[in-house]
Amino acid sequence: MSAPGLGALSVAQLATLVSTGRVSAVDAVRESFARAANAGAGRDGLNAILWSDEGAALGEAEAADARRSDGSDITPRRLAGVPVVVKDSIATLDLPTTCASRMLDGYVSPFEATVVSRLREAGAVVVGKTNMDEFGMGSSTEHSAYGPARNPLDRTRVPGGSSGGSAACVAAGVTRIALGSETGGSVRQPAAFCGVVGVKPTYGRVSRHGLVAFASSLDQVGVFGRTVDDAALALEVIAGPDPLDATSTDTPVPSYRGGSAHVSDGLPLRDVRIGLPNEYFPESLDPRIKAHVDAAVEHLRIAGARVAPVSLPHTSVAIPTYYVLAPAEASSNLARYDGVRFGKRVSSDRLRAMYERTRSDGFGPEVTRRVLIGTYVLSAGYYEQYYRRAQEVRALVARDFATVFESVDLLLTPTTPTTPFPLGSVTDPYEMYLHDAFTVTANLAGVPAMSVPVGRVDGLPVGAQFIAPHFEEALMFRAAYALERALGAEMSQ
Ligand code: GLN
Repeated sequence: MSAPGLGALSVAQLATLVSTGRVSAVDAVRESFARAANAGAGRDGLNAILWSDEGAALGEAEAADARRSDGSDITPRRLAGVPVVVKDSIATLDLPTTCASRMLDGYVSPFEATVVSRLREAGAVVVGKTNMDEFGMGSSTEHSAYGPARNPLDRTRVPGGSSGGSAACVAAGVTRIALGSETGGSVRQPAAFCGVVGVKPTYGRVSRHGLVAFASSLDQVGVFGRTVDDAALALEVIAGPDPLDATSTDTPVPSYRGGSAHVSDGLPLRDVRIGLPNEYFPESLDPRIKAHVDAAVEHLRIAGARVAPVSLPHTSVAIPTYYVLAPAEASSNLARYDGVRFGKRVSSDRLRAMYERTRSDGFGPEVTRRVLIGTYVLSAGYYEQYYRRAQEVRALVARDFATVFESVDLLLTPTTPTTPFPLGSVTDPYEMYLHDAFTVTANLAGVPAMSVPVGRVDGLPVGAQFIAPHFEEALMFRAAYALERALGAEMSQ
C-alpha cells in the first residue's frame, strides 16, 4: 500500500497492517507529520501542537520496524505504528510537559505517565504534545501561555477546551486518536466543537499517574477518536488498574469494541433504556442543536432503544458547585509551583518576594483567579459556607444519577449549549463557565460520558452526549456505535 492515504484507515486497520509488516511504522509516522504540516497544526497555524520532534518519532518507528523485520518482536500490537498526540498536561519523557503555562516553560518530566507508557507498549508513536488552557482551566484553549489554538473547521473560532489542541489535531486529520484530560468537560466539549468523538471514562478507570493535577477528585485522562471504534480501541489500551495510582480500580476492563458486533443485528439497542433529562434541554438551548439531538434520539429509537424523559433535579447547581470545588483543589495542587520545587523561579533577595514574583509571573490570569477563589473558599470562616456546602451538593448531584440509573441504562443530552464561538468573543469568566453546564455533572458524579458528532449547524459541528453508570463504558460505546452507524460514517470523517 502506498503511504498517502494511511490516515484514511481506522486505527485497528493501520495497526493490523503494521503488525503484519505490510505497512511500515515509519511511513505511518512520516505521513502524520506531513498531514500536520499540510493542516498547519503548528504554532503559526492552528497552534494545536506545541512540541514535537520528527526525528525522534521516526527513530522510534524505525526501531520498531527493525524489531519486527528481524523477528525479535513478533507480538501483534493493538496500536502498532499508530501516530498519537498527547495533551501537554500528560508527562512524556522525550518532549516537554508544560501544561501550556509559563510556570513550566521548558520543563521535561523525569518520568512518563502510565497512559503514555501503555500507548507505547501497544506500539503507538507520540508525534506531538498539544495546546491547552493553562493547567486545564478553561473551555476554549484561549488561556494558553502559547496563544490560542484554532478550530480547523473554522479558524476564526475556538476548538473548545481545555484539550482543544488534541481535538483540533484529530479533526484536522493529523492523528486518528489523541489523549486529553477532563476535570469538567475538557475532552467532551472540544470533541463536540471539533466534530470528533471524545470520551471521559469513569473516575478510577484510567490511571492518573503522570497527569499533572488540577483537581484530583475530578481529573481523568480521556481519549479522542476520529470514529467511535478508534476511541474505543484507544480507551481499551489505556484502561485498567495501576499500582502507581491508588484511585485506579481493578474492575475488569471489558472489550469496548464489542459494540460493533451488535450493529449488524436489526435492533442493536433492543434491550437498552435511554433517558432524556429535562434539565439538559432548557428553553434557552439553540433550537438547531436541539433538532440534531432529537434526530439522534429518533435513530436510537429505530435501533430498538426505549426512550423516556427523566429528571436530574440538581443539574442547575452543578456549575457553582464545580467552580467552588475545582478551584479549591487547584489552589492546593498548584501550591507546589513555588519557585523551589518545580519549574520557573523569578529571583529576589527576599524569600517571600521570590515566591510572589515567581507565582505572579508564572501563572496567567485564569489560573490566578482560580487559585484566589480556591484559597478563599478554603479559608477559615468561609470553608463551611462554600467548600463544605459544595461537597454536600456534589453528593446530591451524584445521587441524582444513581436514582435515574435505577430506571434507565443510559442518558442522552446535548454535549454543549452552543456551537464553537469566535475567538476572543467570550471575555466574561462566568459566561465561559456556563459552557460547561452539560459536562461538569458527570465529573462531579464520577460517571463515564462521551460526545459523538451528530450534525452541523451553519457548517459548525454539534455533539450529543451519552452518560452511563459507573464502569458501564461498554454499554455507552454500544449505543455510540449504533448511533454513528445510523447517522452515517461521514459524520465522524
Ligand atoms: N472548563 C472547565 C474548567 O475550566 C473544565 C476544564 C477541564 O475539564 N479541565 O475548569
